[in-house]
Amino acid sequence: MSTRFNDKRFTCPVCAQPFEATTVEAVSHQGQDSDFFPHYIGDDPLPHFLVQCPGCQYCGYPDDFTPESFGKHPVTAALIRNVLGQPLSKKLPRFAQRYYLAAKLYEEQKRNPYFIGNLYLRGSWCCRREEDRKSEIELQQLAVKFLRQSVELSTVVNPDNLPVVTYLVGELYRRLEDKALAREWFGTVEELVADTEQQWVLELAKKQAELNEHLLN
Ligand SMILES: [Zn+2]
Repeated sequence: MSTRFNDKRFTCPVCAQPFEATTVEAVSHQGQDSDFFPHYIGDDPLPHFLVQCPGCQYCGYPDDFTPESFGKHPVTAALIRNVLGQPLSKKLPRFAQRYYLAAKLYEEQKRNPYFIGNLYLRGSWCCRREEDRKSEIELQQLAVKFLRQSVELSTVVNPDNLPVVTYLVGELYRRLEDKALAREWFGTVEELVADTEQQWVLELAKKQAELNEHLLN
């Protein structure tokens, strides 16, 4: 089993242009980085989780192109141009820029910070793929800001995920070389782990907390 794609037709809800885009049908992976970047088997699906209009550049998950979803979360072409004109946006690798734009639009729409953080996190993975460490750091900083907010405001979608997201905040701080905050967040994982099925998160938090204390990144 490896990545499977599917070409689908879309109509842009912003500029009404019809177009075809590659979407992701299935993925599989073997192992992952310590911030959950999966080691995908086969073609890289990361560029295709998001769909982008070739006309106005509107970008989001396939569902964000439906009239129902767009009706609830409208954006304007002017806002899209504005985000794409930002200095940070301009210097990002192409596919990281997609995640950045989608995240900025979500921010503007006041969406759940958990989803916003996840978009920035995936953008940071695109930068790692391109070995662009500077851009990766910029997106990790944004990812940690919103993932942290989602824990603090209790907007993590599935409460069972709370220890995992708490661990992830700690791990992103570690990767950003903020030892004190990494220590603090790794330290709270233990009190959140409720059952034996989540022991793996605790083990991982302990391992990364150890790295945080004793090794350079
Ligand atoms: Zn468009």
